[in-house]
This record gives sequence, C-alpha cells and structure tokens, in this order.
Amino acid sequence: MIIHSDWHIHSENSYDASNPITVIGDQANTQGLRCFGITDHANLNDDKFRKNIEDSAENVKHLQAKYPNMVLGVELTPIERPLYDYICKYGTREGYAVPATMVDCDFAIAYTKEELMALGMRYAVAAAHWSLIGPNARGGDLKQSIESWHYQQMKLACDERTTILGHPWWNGKGIWYEDFSVIPRTMNLELAAALKENGKYVECNSHFFTRAKTTEKFRHQYAEFLRELFEMGISITYGSDSHHNYDDLRPKVEEYLSAAGFADGDFSELSEKDLW
Ligand SMILES: [Zn+2]
Ligand SMILES: [Zn+2]
Repeated sequence: MIIHSDWHIHSENSYDASNPITVIGDQANTQGLRCFGITDHANLNDDKFRKNIEDSAENVKHLQAKYPNMVLGVELTPIERPLYDYICKYGTREGYAVPATMVDCDFAIAYTKEELMALGMRYAVAAAHWSLIGPNARGGDLKQSIESWHYQQMKLACDERTTILGHPWWNGKGIWYEDFSVIPRTMNLELAAALKENGKYVECNSHFFTRAKTTEKFRHQYAEFLRELFEMGISITYGSDSHHNYDDLRPKVEEYLSAAGFADGDFSELSEKDLW
C-alpha cells in the first residue's frame, strides 16, 4: 500500500458531516492506519462554528485514550474579508450581502493559531473552497475562479496556520474536472516553490479520484501533478476528506497514484516537529 495514514476526516461535529468519532476510530484501526486526524470545519468566526470546533476538540481529547493514534486537527478556509468583519461586528452572518465588487486583498481566516492551539489542535488542513474575487464571488467563471484559487493557495502556502495545503484545486462546481491542463503550469510551479520554501505538506484528497464529476483523464493528470510536487521535494499526505460513512477508499485512489509512479514509502505522516 502507498497510504498508511489519513489526515483529513470530518466527524459529526462538522456542520456538514455525520461520522461519529467512534466509528471513524474503529474503522481507521480496522484499516490498519498508523495514525489519523479529525479535521472539522472552522469556516466562520461565528458562534456556530466556534461551538463545532470546541465540541470536536472535546470529543477527540476524550476518545484519545481509546484511540491513541487519533490526532486533533482542524480544517480552515479563506473567507472574504467583508464577511469576516461583518461577523466580528454583528456576531452572525445573518443579513450579510456579498459586496458588488471585491478585490484580492479581501481575505481572512476565522481563527488565529493561538486560538486553535488553545483548543488542543495540533495542525491545520487549510484549503480554498470557493472563489473570493470579482463581482461574481462564489461564482463559476473559469478564468476568474482559477485566478482566485491560485491567489488563495499561494497565500495559504505562506500562512503560519497551514500545516497541510488541503485539496489543491478542488472546486465543488467541477469546472476544471474534465481537463486539468486548463490550470496554467506556471501557477503550479509557483505554488510548488511556495510550498517548498515554507515547508508545507500538500494533500492527496480522495475526492479527486472517486467523485463522479472527475473524468479518467483528469484523475491521471491530477496524480501526475502530485507526483511532480513529490519529485520537487514536497511531502504528500493523504486525506479521505470523509464526511459520511467513513470507509476505505485507498485501493481506488492508489490505482491512479501507482500509475503516476508512487510507491510504498512515498507518502508522509506529519512529523512531530511539524505538529503544533
Ligand atoms: Zn475542504
Ligand atoms: Zn474537508
């Protein structure tokens, strides 16, 4: 096997997930994982998300006696600065309207590293989830979305809160899931240089290889993209990014990884020096 640990799993404490932590723990150990991380979403700086990550931290810490190879992490996302400021002011996103125009600098992450560490979190998967720029923020325009993803990923590669760059180039709308070569190579080289310079890990996320939206061609291209990063000296971690029915997707994912040249020993675990 190529994959021996899973650093990106959501529990029922995530707003969008249903895996009970005990089911994850039992399943991870049945799969024979050396270690696995719970990374519930901390999207917004409002009470709802704060409560989610507090509950996640409490439950994981409680169950670590039963599952000593379970690590507490978190998943972070860039949000537009006006939304962050709005929530700071009103305590809720209720009533917030996306501004008609936004620029690249409109970018925030909901929690500081100190706040996350105070909850006992040991690392963060940080990832772009939607387009932040332009009049069509959160929209699906191809060129603008690519630019926004690149901008966010470059910032995340340099952010002190990022341990693992999560699912690079993931987008729920699937607008580049037919042919990954729409992403300019210069962007990937720039991203690789930033990741390497800052000692960040990069994630191989199962969704790229298992979602119906992604084509065979894309899956192979994406595995080759990861292989190129690996050959440039960047450490790769695996993330199932499971939200429901935690199960073993590694055989499917490894088909594409093997074809791209990955072998046992190439994937990384987070080393103690990189954990908070
Ligand atoms: Zn994500
Ligand atoms: Zn996730």
